[in-house]
Amino acid sequence: MANGVLVFAEQRDGAFKKGTLEAISEGRRIANQLGTNLSAVVVGSGVAGLAGEAASYGADVVYVADSAALANYSTDGYAKAFADAVADAQPAVILASASSMGRDLAPRVAARLDIGLASDITETKVEGGKLSAVRPMYAGKAFATVEFNRAPAFVTLRPNVFPIAAPEAGRTPEVKNLGGVVVDGPQAKVTDILAAAKGKIELTEASVVVSGGRGIKGPENYHLIQSLADAFGGAAGASRAVVDAGWVDHSHQVGQTGKTVSPSLYIACGISGAIQHLAGMSSSKFIVAINKDPEAPIFKIADYGIVGDLFEVVPKLTEQARALRS
Ligand SMILES: Cc1cc2nc3c(=O)[nH]c(=O)nc-3n(C[C@H](O)[C@H](O)[C@H](O)COP(=O)(O)OP(=O)(O)OC[C@H]3O[C@@H](n4cnc5c(N)ncnc54)[C@H](O)[C@@H]3O)c2cc1C
Repeated sequence: MANGVLVFAEQRDGAFKKGTLEAISEGRRIANQLGTNLSAVVVGSGVAGLAGEAASYGADVVYVADSAALANYSTDGYAKAFADAVADAQPAVILASASSMGRDLAPRVAARLDIGLASDITETKVEGGKLSAVRPMYAGKAFATVEFNRAPAFVTLRPNVFPIAAPEAGRTPEVKNLGGVVVDGPQAKVTDILAAAKGKIELTEASVVVSGGRGIKGPENYHLIQSLADAFGGAAGASRAVVDAGWVDHSHQVGQTGKTVSPSLYIACGISGAIQHLAGMSSSKFIVAINKDPEAPIFKIADYGIVGDLFEVVPKLTEQARALRS
């Protein structure tokens, strides 16, 4: 019988992503409510040492697939290792972060196991020994509670929504080695990963995101957005209008066809608030809009609004934010 909770513990360059710690922490909370144990699966090369960290956030058992062939992410190799861990653990609940990797991997694993998947959820509920999950729909205008007809219940968690538990030192996990994980003829092979901007905070993980829209007028002014983001120790995003115009790279795009972010603070500068943009940021905890048009739709979902010219407002905010942080 299905039992236990299993978390896919995503790592990059030998370190857990923030979303992984969120997923393990949430996995622990669910396992406690179900009165069961928590397993984590770590895949990569030279990653065996991460088992202890997974345990400190609540994992009782850690599956490790450690091989040079898994150094770079590949859907086939990682899906195989993930599915092998599921086959052994026979969990009732499976969690992964809805990161870029999680979004690629989870549907593949769900299809392999012939089970359902609720993606990008923002809340979990345990009732009568069963998990249900809340997922935003229609660009965050509606919330659906999803139940699972049969085990395991598989969900991916929207990054930055679930709190990270305080790590507990001295917990030792049971480590289960999944071996080398041999994949027959992988269909795609990642040969190299180029970091776009070293040292920059990943948009989906930042607790403050400042985004610029068409109101910034041109690429030469995007530095205003970046400076405000830097002043808060956050990340800079953009609307699709800005990306389509070639002013910034697509990796900055927030929205339906870009990234979904849920920071503590989202500052929209010169963004009108089209539904496709809201789809990517409406679950932010506090939304501040700066727009010279008082009728701009973005003000309808903003917690705080500044009606004004961003070229005057943004530098002043940046100055204040820098002063506060120093
Ligand atoms: C299938 C599909 C998918 C899409 N996916 C996305 C997506 O992922 N993300 C996304 O963002 N969009 C997406 N879009 C596009 C979306 O519909 C809008 O066109 C886009 O979000 C508009 O970007 P914007 O708000 O920057 O520009 P605009 O709508 O042109 O708004 C610019 C705003 O700047 C304000 N402004 C101008 N000058 C100043 C100033 N000096 N100071 C202050 N304010 C100023 C204006 O009042 C205006 O409100 C998608 C569209 C489709 C059809």
